[in-house]
Amino acid sequence: MTQFAKRVTAIDISGIRKMFEGAGPDAINMGLGQPDFDTPENIKAAAVAALAGGKTGYTNNAGVDELRAAVAAKLQRENNISCGAGNVVITAGGSGALNIAIQSLIDSGEKVIFNNPGFVSYGALTTLAGGIPDPVALRPDLHLDVETIKEHMSDPKAKVFVLNSPANPTGMVETPETIRAIVESAADYDVTVISDEVYEKFCYGSTKFVSAATFGDNVVTVNAASKTYAMTGWRIGFLAASEEIVHEVIKVQQYTLACATSIAQYAALEAYTGPQDSVAAMKKEYEARRNLLIAGLTDLGIPVNKPDGAFYAFPKMDAEMVMKIVNAGVIITPGTAFGSAGVGYARMSYATSQKNIKTALERIAKVME
Ligand code: PLP
Repeated sequence: MTQFAKRVTAIDISGIRKMFEGAGPDAINMGLGQPDFDTPENIKAAAVAALAGGKTGYTNNAGVDELRAAVAAKLQRENNISCGAGNVVITAGGSGALNIAIQSLIDSGEKVIFNNPGFVSYGALTTLAGGIPDPVALRPDLHLDVETIKEHMSDPKAKVFVLNSPANPTGMVETPETIRAIVESAADYDVTVISDEVYEKFCYGSTKFVSAATFGDNVVTVNAASKTYAMTGWRIGFLAASEEIVHEVIKVQQYTLACATSIAQYAALEAYTGPQDSVAAMKKEYEARRNLLIAGLTDLGIPVNKPDGAFYAFPKMDAEMVMKIVNAGVIITPGTAFGSAGVGYARMSYATSQKNIKTALERIAKVME
């Protein structure tokens, strides 16, 4: 029998996919964390031009120079982060950025702290790097519990805190005060913050997005074209960090990936430098869907906090109810797929049409009868 590495056998396939198995062919899919929009035409055209222009070879390990510069300019302009092209590494999606950051920062036995429930990759990438996942339960209002996080940071083994706001799976957005407190406490304890900002563009109402790196230089900013520009399959993300960190992460990238796809990098260059109206249009539509879904769930008597960002609602419901809803033709994900503290919740993605959301609510209403 083949003996596998314990780092790998210790992790599980994500629980999200498992829900698809129970659903019929006309099921409405509210289980996926990916935009239902197509990539905007100007971005596709840039990829076609890159292909026709023969941009098909390896690029620098850190990415195409113009794209690194465009991302640095975006971070300065929109996020108030002072950085240059030398601080940016273009990666294979946000996942690639999280991976090379965690691989570079974590030694065997060191801890990565993150929210529970939280995005499934943080714990798995930590285990793959030989580290110890250290999930901290969210407060009952689904926001970060800063005092408990500080206690965990004071552990000498604590090395990294992963911040994710707007958050998957809850849709919660943390206040600037909370983000500042976390970055400053992390600095006190020599903990590096990895700020996963992939949902930055999807903050609703008067909610303002603030980048963690505006509060300290102990922050690795992670972001991606994936959600912002409906480009999940293109696999383009980036990280921005000090040159010291960039020097190390580049080595991991060089030997694991070499570089992000050349053609997709040129498409991302158009995404970050071209017209941004498609992002505004997607945000407007997500916000309308959020309002529709939250009003519908509330009418049905299902307790749910109004999410301020991302494209997820995280209503309270037990595992039996989740299964009944899936069997009634609405795919949703049990909260426990995102960590032990997700028990008693479900994640519903509203990256699906308003028509689908209305039908889903009708089916859930029948289940409730
Ligand atoms: N971070 C969060 C919070 C996510 O929800 C996801 C995708 O679902 C990612 C990172 C990964 O993004 P990408 O598709 O760019 O690898």
